[in-house]
Amino acid sequence: MKKEIAVIGLGRFGGSIVMELSAMNVDVLVIDTDEARVNEYQDYYSDGIIGDSTDEMMLKSIGNNYDNVIVAIGDNIQASILTTLILKDLGVNKVTAKAQNSYHGKVLEKIGADIVVHPERDMGRRIAHRLISSSVVEYLEVSSNHSIIEYSANIKLENKRINDLNLREKFGISIIAINRDNDIIVSPDPQISILAGDILILIGSDKQINNFENFMERLK
Ligand code: ATP
Repeated sequence: MKKEIAVIGLGRFGGSIVMELSAMNVDVLVIDTDEARVNEYQDYYSDGIIGDSTDEMMLKSIGNNYDNVIVAIGDNIQASILTTLILKDLGVNKVTAKAQNSYHGKVLEKIGADIVVHPERDMGRRIAHRLISSSVVEYLEVSSNHSIIEYSANIKLENKRINDLNLREKFGISIIAINRDNDIIVSPDPQISILAGDILILIGSDKQINNFENFMERLK
């Protein structure tokens, strides 16, 4: 039998996942206690259940068909934890759970959630980086203290060779790729020069990246 994805909780986060999966032609089962929410997304899922995911019997009845479940319940932390616990007890292979805060996240990890996501915190961080530096196009956390940023090459960087910029020595960060007119130059040769419009893809610790961003802002 085909394994499908289930999304529990149709707030803005769960709802947007359902719409995205639907756009990718993935069959989705949705579960929400709120009938109005289930109706609101009816164009985007193949099966919908109005029900409480803390009801173990209900989850059991669908559990075997789903090896990928997203727990997108937000405010009701107790329901989010209990649902995650039941899903892991039922043997669901991959449970992705949304955390409201770091304590909630820690509990979710402890009880066996395979992936814990912090959408509000992550979005806040991305926006903060974009606010601090007008050249940061994108920010992606790769671990609790390392990130990748997409940095739009400004006039100060133009026509400089990667070697001469010496970013590794000065800031401890590395250019892992350059997006040049939508062509990706992976591990760019240190001898190549940066051109106007280049987007540099940089990796480093958060502290190193902050130092680089602040330094570049002061240079402008
Ligand atoms: P977002 O920020 O994504 O909008 P939120 O934090 O506002 O999320 P909530 O409103 O707390 O999210 O919950 C998301 C959805 O989860 C709601 O539609 C709610 O009805 C549903 N929900 C809450 N508890 C349960 C439960 N035990 N079983 C099924 N659905 C639930």
